[in-house]
Amino acid sequence: MPLRQEIEIGPQSGGSVRVREGETVRVVDPEGQQVADLWAFVLDGGLVDWLSVSQTRDMAERMFPKVGEHFYSDRAAPLLTLVEDNSPSPHDMLFPACDRGLYERAGLPGHPNCRDNMLRQLRDAGVELPFVPDPVNLFQRSEPQADGRLEVFASDNPPGGNVLLRANQDLLLVVTACSVDFHPTNGGRCTGIRLELSSGGD
Ligand SMILES: [Zn+2]
Repeated sequence: MPLRQEIEIGPQSGGSVRVREGETVRVVDPEGQQVADLWAFVLDGGLVDWLSVSQTRDMAERMFPKVGEHFYSDRAAPLLTLVEDNSPSPHDMLFPACDRGLYERAGLPGHPNCRDNMLRQLRDAGVELPFVPDPVNLFQRSEPQADGRLEVFASDNPPGGNVLLRANQDLLLVVTACSVDFHPTNGGRCTGIRLELSSGGD
């Protein structure tokens, strides 16, 4: 499948790409242990629908879709298919994006964060959101513990670990390279994420 576009997302920042139905996007963690927050939006002159992690958990009846299954929208429409999962990480669909408050509570006011980085990408696309959907936290290791606790461990994604997604309709994808650097989440250092967009057809 020919590569149409490659987008390098720097550490602690965000990027976006418009994908057409049938196109694929590989989300790559080049250096390893870097969480990538993913959002998908259906836009048609304004916001129409968006990827919902709660609908996806419900429809898939799992904490995270298996290969061949879908990520669903707020209206329960399939937006993306998980085509390949080349990562040992469980991924996460329980935690919100990191935001200003998280860093303020950690004594780090003004720190870069995924929420603001995502909103900046949307603003550049001409969309103002009155809310922020919870993201899919690719490569994040925070599966629930046996006693019910939710704890975020250092990602175990190796360099080059990736997932391949196919768009089920035209979408705006926003991805952030998570900014957490005071906690083991990203292996103690923040690195970048690469998006590889390929056009449809075999
Ligand atoms: Zn983050």
